[in-house]
Amino acid sequence: MEQELIVIGGGAAGMMAAIVAAESGRQVCLLERNQKLGRKIYITGKGRCNVTNHCQPQEVLANTPRNSRFLYGAMARTTPVWVEEFFTGLGVPLKVERGNRVFPESDHASDIIDALFFRLRKLNVKIVEDRAVSLLTREGKVTAVKGERGEYPCKAVILATGGVSYPATGSTGDGHQMAQDLGHTIIETKPSLVPLESDDAFCGEMQGLALKNVLLKVKNKKGKVIYQEQGELLFTHFGISGPLVLSASAHMRDFEKEQYTCVIDLKPALDEQKLDARLLREFNENINKDFQNVLGALVPRLMVPVIMNLTEIPADRKIHDITKGERRRLLEVLKGIKINITGPRPIREAIITSGGVKVGEVDPKTMASKKVDGLFFAGELLDVDAYTGGFNLQIAWATGRAAGEGAAEYLVEQEA
Ligand SMILES: Cc1cc2nc3c(=O)[nH]c(=O)nc-3n(C[C@H](O)[C@H](O)[C@H](O)COP(=O)(O)OP(=O)(O)OC[C@H]3O[C@@H](n4cnc5c(N)ncnc54)[C@H](O)[C@@H]3O)c2cc1C
Repeated sequence: MEQELIVIGGGAAGMMAAIVAAESGRQVCLLERNQKLGRKIYITGKGRCNVTNHCQPQEVLANTPRNSRFLYGAMARTTPVWVEEFFTGLGVPLKVERGNRVFPESDHASDIIDALFFRLRKLNVKIVEDRAVSLLTREGKVTAVKGERGEYPCKAVILATGGVSYPATGSTGDGHQMAQDLGHTIIETKPSLVPLESDDAFCGEMQGLALKNVLLKVKNKKGKVIYQEQGELLFTHFGISGPLVLSASAHMRDFEKEQYTCVIDLKPALDEQKLDARLLREFNENINKDFQNVLGALVPRLMVPVIMNLTEIPADRKIHDITKGERRRLLEVLKGIKINITGPRPIREAIITSGGVKVGEVDPKTMASKKVDGLFFAGELLDVDAYTGGFNLQIAWATGRAAGEGAAEYLVEQEA
């Protein structure tokens, strides 16, 4: 039986789009390749789902480094406050945490998925488990979706298949291919919010070490600081990861041409003078001890051999033998461990896919394709991406709603 509208992809954007179109009285089918909807939502915010950011729409745009202007209208209509009211209206109480991050009060991402699922059911949205492979058109208009298990005639389609990150959740880039087959340009996909690789062997030596409250600076090849923030960082076998690094990576957008260096200040609360006074105090109290033992009081155990290497001060050097110059070297290392970044981890390990359907070929108000009638886009599939803080889901909700409304209006126009 023909459905009026088929939404491909039961993630955040697709579910929102299907709900909004069904609320306008349209007959909607949601096609999802996985048995369960919202698999990616399930792992967001470490399973707690940072559902949006409690801020003004302008702030969402300021946190969207790529194509934020395209989102201007959608974000003005679907503000973070609208999203919060939407979910509380569905019976999910929310709370606001540090950095205006909004989470379900229960700390369970599954509450968000369940709320969306029950709303879809209430609105009689038909949920079909199948993987869409292509879109069929006649005279420049969408007529059907071809899936692995069957063909689905329809009058309009919303493509909301996500990016290509974390492919185990179902987002493998099928939508990019389907859009490209119909003449859309796909801007090359790149990882964003991604761990970083380094050829500095000491990262691997400190594998598993998590540092809290350190200051991370990212410098480009000219030595200009392009990002700096305080927070949590993790050493891994390949380089560095953790919240601070993921956020930093979103600012490192040109690995082909640039050379990035990360500089870690282990003691951001102490300026050089205060840190030097601290070192002197520590040294005076342990004047006859070996350097490596005293270092253990200043940095985590796993770091001791690394710092010794970087300062080139021998492990068994007695503190009373340490020169002023050596103490200065130690201070400089504590205030600035340099890590040479060779590139990002592969896109499958990125939180976000940068790149996707070229936004110039999409109407920013309705998310309609400018190339094919009856085709709409929503979510991470589009060439927009934001920093951490709930902004990426906010983009999925806002573009999903715009596409749902746009498709519903299109169907009304077709009837006229
Ligand atoms: C580990 C992790 C943590 C994150 N945490 C947060 C967070 O806390 N806050 C935040 O704002 N953002 C977070 N993000 C980003 C956020 O999850 C995404 O930006 C958002 O889910 C994108 O939604 P989407 O609907 O566009 O795509 P997706 O959520 O990827 O959904 C796409 C859906 O389409 C389906 N699909 C794909 N191809 C087909 C096909 N051919 N046929 C049928 N179905 C198909 C997929 O199975 C999938 O269900 C996180 C991402 C990751 C990976």
